Parts: sequence; structure tokens; C-alpha cells
Amino acid sequence: MSLFSSNTFHGQVVLVTGGGTGIGKQIARSFGRCGASLAICSRRLEVIEATAAEFEGEGLSCLAVPCDVRKPDEVEHVLRCVIERYGRLDVVINNAAGNFPAPMSGITYNGFKAVVDIDLLGTYNVSKAAFETWLGEHGGNIVNITAPFQNVGPTLQAHVASAKAGVDSLTRTCAVEWGPRGIRVNAVAPGAIADTEGLSRFENATEGGSSGRCPLGRVGTAQDIADTVLFLASEASTYVTGQIICVDGGSSVDSMKIRLD
Ligand code: NAP
Repeated sequence: MSLFSSNTFHGQVVLVTGGGTGIGKQIARSFGRCGASLAICSRRLEVIEATAAEFEGEGLSCLAVPCDVRKPDEVEHVLRCVIERYGRLDVVINNAAGNFPAPMSGITYNGFKAVVDIDLLGTYNVSKAAFETWLGEHGGNIVNITAPFQNVGPTLQAHVASAKAGVDSLTRTCAVEWGPRGIRVNAVAPGAIADTEGLSRFENATEGGSSGRCPLGRVGTAQDIADTVLFLASEASTYVTGQIICVDGGSSVDSMKIRLD
């Protein structure tokens, strides 16, 4: 359950890419529970339709539009559908991403490109289309979902880290260029998040991975991420832009990995 009140986003419209599963789904649900009308998109229509039906069953309003964020024409179609259905757009969450843990030597040319195309190019495509369709004239919020490890050298994540480093850079430039238009652009960097596709793939590849080995001693939850995203899109953060907030139990600042008790 979110800490925000049920009318924090009343009257607002929120688009979440990759909103049919995992972290994106919980972000969308949390906005919905706080009064927002929702739109979710991803490639698999059956997945987003099932999630939208689940949300509708919970009393939320949700539009599901199939889209590959790598394709600008499909992205523009999503934006048109959102404006047609709701007449406005307030918040965009760039959450869609690809991931498969692999060492540099094991990543194919196509595999590396696919992750960069989905994570980085997809974030660019959706942000640009949202700006041109609505946000550029009316203002709003963009929150990009990034990762906490791209400033070091994460094993098995060369493709993801490279893409997310670009997402971080895009976050800052969009914040600076679009701030005068009333658009705030921030990013949230999740650590290991329980019950997600991303974490289970990493755990399988590393036989247990590193879940829970952080100063706060637990894996995160999708709600941990959703709460920070809601904060960044809310009136509680109107002077915050261009920032990347790690929600990772302290992992990214724990250089010694020593536990004193
Ligand atoms: P997930 O459930 O696999 O979510 C990824 C979503 O993106 C899926 O709904 C997928 O749906 C969609 N997607 C993938 N390719 C797409 C494309 N080309 N066009 C449109 N949608 C696409 O993964 P998750 O673990 O919740 O991750 C969500 C976000 O958190 C990602 O940005 C990830 O990098 C970040 N993150 C997660 C963790 C973690 O521990 N899970 C840690 C750090 C960062 P379709 O297959 O239907 O397209």
C-alpha cells in the first residue's frame, strides 16, 4: 500500500511503458490507487490487456496499447491513443527494458544492440513523443527507471550498464532543456527487487546473486520503487529535477561490503 493519499494524482494521466509486469505494473497500480488514470504499453498485447483488466477490477481506469518502444511510429500511436482517451498527459514513466545477464564475451552484436535500443533509444523515443504531443506545451513529469551500477563495472551487465548510463545522461539533459517548459525529469535506480523478471534472471545466472547483501539487509520491493517514483512525480518534489535516486538499500554506497554485526 502506498503512503500517498488516494487523491494525490486525482485528475492526472500517467503512462507507464512496460507497465504490464514487474516494477512497472506496481508503479502503474500505485498511481491508480492515488487517483490517476492509467495507460500502459508493451509488446505483448495479452499481457497488458490482462493487467488493464486486473486494474479495472480494482476500480482503476487503464488503457492498454501495444507498442515496441524501439519504433517511433508505434510510440507516437500510443501517445495519440492516450490523448484521445483521456484528453491530457501528466506523467510518463520510462520503465520498459530488456535484460539477460551475460559476460561481454557472451553477448552477441544483436543482443547488445537490442538492450541499448529498448532501454536508451526507447526512453528517448517515448520522451520525445510525449514532449511533442503534450508535455512541451503543458508541462508535466518524466521519471526514467535506470539502474544503480553503471558508474562502476558490473559483471554480466555491460549492455544494460551502457544503456542505463545513456538513460542517466538523457535524464539530466532533458531536465535542463525542458525545465523552462515546466517539465521535471528524474530517474529512479532500483537495486535488487524481489519477485521480478530482472532479479530472477540475475539470480539464475549467478546461482543466488547478491540479493539482500546490502546495508539494509533485504531485497527491495516493487512498492519501494513505486513510492519513490510517486514522490518524484508529486507536488512533494516540485524543486527536484535532473536527479537520479538510488533505491537499493545502500548497495551503491557500500564500497567495503563489510558487516560489523
Ligand atoms: P520486467 O518485468 O521484465 O519488465 C520489463 C517490461 O518492459 C516488460 O513489461 C516488457 O513487456 C517491457 N518491454 C520489454 N521490451 C520492450 C519493448 N521493446 N517495447 C515495449 N516494452 C518492452 O522487468 P523488471 O524487473 O520489472 O524491470 C523494470 C525496470 O526496472 C527496468 O527498466 C529494469 O532495467 C529496471 N531494474 C530492475 C531491477 C530488478 O531487480 N528487477 C534492478 C534494476 C533496474 P513486453 O515483453 O510485453 O514488451
